[in-house]
Amino acid sequence: MSQLLANKNILVMGVANDRSIAWAIAQSLAGQGARLAFTYENERVEERVRKLADTIPNSVVLPCNVTVDAEIDTLAEALKTEFGVLHGFVHSIAFARTEELEGLYVDTSRDGFALAHDISAYSLTAVAKRVYPLMTEGGSIMTMTYLGAERAMKNYNVMGVAKAALEASIRYLANDLGQFNIRVNGISAGPIRTLAAKGIKDFNSILRQVEEKAPLRRTTETAEVGDTAMFLMSHLSRGVTGEVIHVDNGYHIIGV
Ligand code: NAD
Repeated sequence: MSQLLANKNILVMGVANDRSIAWAIAQSLAGQGARLAFTYENERVEERVRKLADTIPNSVVLPCNVTVDAEIDTLAEALKTEFGVLHGFVHSIAFARTEELEGLYVDTSRDGFALAHDISAYSLTAVAKRVYPLMTEGGSIMTMTYLGAERAMKNYNVMGVAKAALEASIRYLANDLGQFNIRVNGISAGPIRTLAAKGIKDFNSILRQVEEKAPLRRTTETAEVGDTAMFLMSHLSRGVTGEVIHVDNGYHIIGV
């Protein structure tokens, strides 16, 4: 079978290290022949991202802190020069202060609420706004979300509220961009031990609960998310937009 993503140029944002979900997604996309552009948040992670990207032929690495509009503008210009046409955008970025990820949601600060929403929700729209004009042959945009958007989950707090905004953004963006044959979807992944997950209190007990209760009786692996992302980036999912697909071994269907 020919490669599903041959001649496709895809932007992947959110690789911090080899445990990042974005890295597993990148591997699935590269495995199907996609050409990738990676971004890094700051100099602290630049070297790690470059080392990983070096293992994927023809990939490019560009800076972009999503809280700075000028950096997103520069990213879009660089993508135009590098690729001309963009076919996909993978958004795998989130942040909330550690102190907002424990205790009661009701104690969330104004600053903490704004920061979590800026980085974890608005950034999808901020980047989509600048890169969709490059998707002149149609395209696919996807982001990463979590069950905490739909249910009140212990310690997820403001991040759950930000993910709910992110999931609503998926639907609004899908409705806006469908006329350009651009699809917008999300993957709601089960808990996975990554750098971002380290910020969530009692993460081990969440993993244990999933192992016990998920229909498939196991926790989610990044490669499972990577392969679903590959499906969303490919023409196989051409009829799917505005959707959130759960890749969580079925955990979300379980009652208490
Ligand atoms: P990760 O720490 O590897 O990835 C988070 C990424 O966000 C990092 O690459 C970081 O550099 C980037 N980031 C944070 N602030 C940024 C900024 N201002 N500008 C640019 N980039 C910034 O962790 P991960 O678990 O791979 O997280 C990826 C996505 O998956 C997140 O949206 C997360 O909420 C989501 N998710 C994670 C899990 C899980 O259990 N790990 C489950 C469901 C959804």
